[in-house]
Amino acid sequence: MISIYDKKVKYTRILKRNKLKLTPKRIAIIDYFVKSGKYATPFDVWIYLKKNFKKIGLPTVYRNLEKFEKIGILTKVEGEENRFYYGICKIKKKKHHHHITCSFCHKLLDFDICNFEDLKEEIEKKTGFSIKEHYLIVKGICKDCQKGGEI
Ligand SMILES: [Zn+2]
Ligand SMILES: [Zn+2]
Ligand SMILES: [Zn+2]
Repeated sequence: MISIYDKKVKYTRILKRNKLKLTPKRIAIIDYFVKSGKYATPFDVWIYLKKNFKKIGLPTVYRNLEKFEKIGILTKVEGEENRFYYGICKIKKKKHHHHITCSFCHKLLDFDICNFEDLKEEIEKKTGFSIKEHYLIVKGICKDCQKGGEI
């Protein structure tokens, strides 16, 4: 198991390599994602950061999350209601995978099951397209929310 500390070291190295300054805010953002292990909207991150950085604006959070995505620390995923979520993929970046989102608590998880190859041929036959990539949005109700029962 990689510890939270090791993960933080890894991501701060990526920041340095990409010539992004290690500001307290950026460290706090990394902290947030490493510790929670969850996907979050820019708004969620903003609420969290406001506890320690009272004057931080939402645009600053957006900008930093975009930068983090560009340098490969975070992944941006479209979730419920066209909201965008950021998070650290549990599955290695290079490995093809998809995301599933809970319609109730908006939690997002990775999974590396995909049988699109079978569908691809059929779709190509029907449309005449040569398919280059695909995205999949899978929605459902997570284990925790199913236990809650009030749906
Ligand atoms: Zn992922
Ligand atoms: Zn849920
Ligand atoms: Zn796939």
